[in-house]
Amino acid sequence: MRITAAVLEHAHAPFEIKDFTLDDPNANEVIVKIVATGLCHTDLAVRDEHIPIGMPIILGHEGAGIVETVGSSVTHVKPGDHVVLAPASCGTCAFCLDGHPSYCENFMSLNFLGHRLDGSYAYHAGKKQIGGFFFYQSSFATYALAHERNIVKVPKDAPLELLGPLGCGLQTGAGSVINVLRPRAGESIAVFGVGPVGLAAIMAAKASGCTTIIAVDVFDNRLKLAEELGATHSINSKTTVVSEVINSEILHGGVHYSIDTTGRNDVINQAVASLRFMGHCAVVGVIPTPKLEIDTAVFTMGRGLSYVIEGDSVPQVFIPQLISLYKNGLFPFDKLVKFYDLEDINEAVADTEKGVTLKAIVRMPQK
Ligand SMILES: [Zn+2]
Ligand SMILES: [Zn+2]
Repeated sequence: MRITAAVLEHAHAPFEIKDFTLDDPNANEVIVKIVATGLCHTDLAVRDEHIPIGMPIILGHEGAGIVETVGSSVTHVKPGDHVVLAPASCGTCAFCLDGHPSYCENFMSLNFLGHRLDGSYAYHAGKKQIGGFFFYQSSFATYALAHERNIVKVPKDAPLELLGPLGCGLQTGAGSVINVLRPRAGESIAVFGVGPVGLAAIMAAKASGCTTIIAVDVFDNRLKLAEELGATHSINSKTTVVSEVINSEILHGGVHYSIDTTGRNDVINQAVASLRFMGHCAVVGVIPTPKLEIDTAVFTMGRGLSYVIEGDSVPQVFIPQLISLYKNGLFPFDKLVKFYDLEDINEAVADTEKGVTLKAIVRMPQK
């Protein structure tokens, strides 16, 4: 079939809108007519060569749309179903079987090769092979080829064009709270970096019953939004030592939990230093600093640090939970979003990089 997609021809280049041919799905694959796709920093990490992957390639990995065609062995979705696309996982390794598909042994090869595991491509421009299969979806396109394992069926009364970011950035922040840290009602948390991932963590902390929720960032407009979404305190970290402010002015002894969304060495140190005894810090959603230097004395009192991928969620379980929270006013992520048309995708990128837009969602032309 013919599709229109935003393709990245070279590293550090803008996206180009072009037409391609997409092959029919294999037995375990699904073609989804994309309604809209979120823009996530991992798309830009590929553009900037932080993640090595062959080009040209069609990116996009927060897709939402309507099932168009299913492969011969797919039984859990049918044409017309509304779906969100999540990262792919194999379903057969020990981590998948244990309910942790974000740590799938085949995660890298299923999501970042640009082609199938057998080496075959599905996207073509004439005789030229075009990379796809980014998070096994490449959803900056009018149609996406996905795997039956990364399709999440969602209710038809949910606003489909809004839902794509639940498949990556928002499940990363919310899942790190709800699935990993698991705060109890009345506990405390500090979130370092309140971009979309951090704001999802703030909303999830409020929904979980945390009563002290501290937002930390260097941008006052983000801190203001964090307060609207549930933060009880906010700290601009530009000129203060955050752990000292928390300890002396907010919660003597420190917080139960902290989250770092920046991957920066100095920020991770502050996130750990803000913890009370036996507190837990989760570093989420980023390519972390290659060498973390930390004063290990903090760990002697039972404090812990984990790196968390994709909120350690089972997307087919967790994304419907987030939609349910949204419908009940407990996860108002629509407040983060700005929509762009596919032809304006480079404007979406520029606005995201300037910090003007928190979560850009690119709408596909509906022919
Ligand atoms: Zn697996
Ligand atoms: Zn992402």
